[in-house]
Amino acid sequence: MFDTLSDRLTSVLSNLRGKGRLSEADIDATCREIRIALLEADVALPVVRSFIGQVKQRAKGAEVSQALNPAQQVVKIVNEELIGILGGETRRLNLAKNPPTVIMLAGLQGSGKTTLAGKLARWLAGQGHTPMLVAADLQRPNAVTQLQVVGERAGVPVFAPEPGNGVGDPVDVARRSIDEARRAQHDVVVIDTAGRLGIDEEMMRQAADIRDAVQPNETLFVVDAMIGQDAVTTAEAFRDGVGFTGVALTKLDGDARGGAALSVRQVTGQPILFASNGEKLEDFDVFHPDRMASRILGMGDLLTLIEQAEQAFDAKQAEEAAAKIGSGELTLEDFLEQMLAVRRMGPIGNLLGMLPGAGQMKDALAQLDEKHLDRVQAIIRGMTPQERADPKIIKGSRRARIARGSGVSVSEVNDLVDRFFEARKMMQQMAGRFGM
Ligand code: GDP
Repeated sequence: MFDTLSDRLTSVLSNLRGKGRLSEADIDATCREIRIALLEADVALPVVRSFIGQVKQRAKGAEVSQALNPAQQVVKIVNEELIGILGGETRRLNLAKNPPTVIMLAGLQGSGKTTLAGKLARWLAGQGHTPMLVAADLQRPNAVTQLQVVGERAGVPVFAPEPGNGVGDPVDVARRSIDEARRAQHDVVVIDTAGRLGIDEEMMRQAADIRDAVQPNETLFVVDAMIGQDAVTTAEAFRDGVGFTGVALTKLDGDARGGAALSVRQVTGQPILFASNGEKLEDFDVFHPDRMASRILGMGDLLTLIEQAEQAFDAKQAEEAAAKIGSGELTLEDFLEQMLAVRRMGPIGNLLGMLPGAGQMKDALAQLDEKHLDRVQAIIRGMTPQERADPKIIKGSRRARIARGSGVSVSEVNDLVDRFFEARKMMQQMAGRFGM
């Protein structure tokens, strides 16, 4: 996501680097380039105008002319203004004082509502809540079953109308679900409502009826980031028809442009609470405007990376590995353990995308192939514990045997062992330099 925009902005801003003073012409040219980059990313025009207006005004002011490093100051301004249009502070979920907290999801069909319901429920459960999902989309024949499948995967119960009772009334289902939540002590209720392919009055009316019946603490407008400019019209229609307190952006993984994400906050006046970036339940996170801005500017999203690492790594194991790196005792076994821990954090491409400068490493990332990692894993697993501890002992015949066992060629095994020795040496030298 945001790849093209990120590349463009990074290159525009790096053109300023090395310039001592910035003339008005420099700033005008930079703003012109940023404007084009934003428009190409499909950001709504009024949002682009106000963004550029702000950046220009600040860049021509004292904070830049008196700065020690004017170019860096401009980057700082662009970053701050980006955070601003993305919503400023991270907006947390409003929880009810008297549970259950009711969260209603609204959006077009196909926007990713049902998937998001499951992701949100799973996330809430991870935060110590006891959520319940509610199937109030009785329009689409498969919607109830789909939510039940998602609920099962998320390990969260689903409240749905009893089969055989006809189509059922979504307003009634929603209302009864609140009683059920109270009875069964679910502290959060997530209601999935019906969507249509296009905005239509009946859908809006139904959503508004459900809203009136359950008085949600949060109504989240679920919007597919890939629909670009249409996101803005749809958001306006939902704002006027149902009203919402926050936005959940989906399919951020699929959109290289990301204009919807940058426009929706300013256009609707409501904050983005969650972002969804994949089909799997764990591809979901709280939306942090500041982290997203630094990601767009190629400054990386180290905080998210660190949080994910904390979840995936065993601190003691990591410390032991670090000590072994320093002493040059790292084995292939350690290497395998660390690799498995990294892979628990998600697809490698997603992880690397969060690192500073990753935008420019895109080509390399595109070649980074999960299948290659699978093969490396298979090779190491094909070795005996002694061989993993001391790969030097792996002679020709064993290499051929390992290759056969793990379904790769001998040269791949040779390559892995050679590169392991090289990497170990390099890491030891680096560790020495950093005093590890
Ligand atoms: P609903 O009609 O609004 O309930 O939408 P669904 O939850 O059924 O999602 C529609 C399609 O989008 C499904 O194929 C989902 O797997 C897919 N989808 C949902 N969220 C994401 C996402 O964040 N990324 C990607 N790539 N696909 C998604």
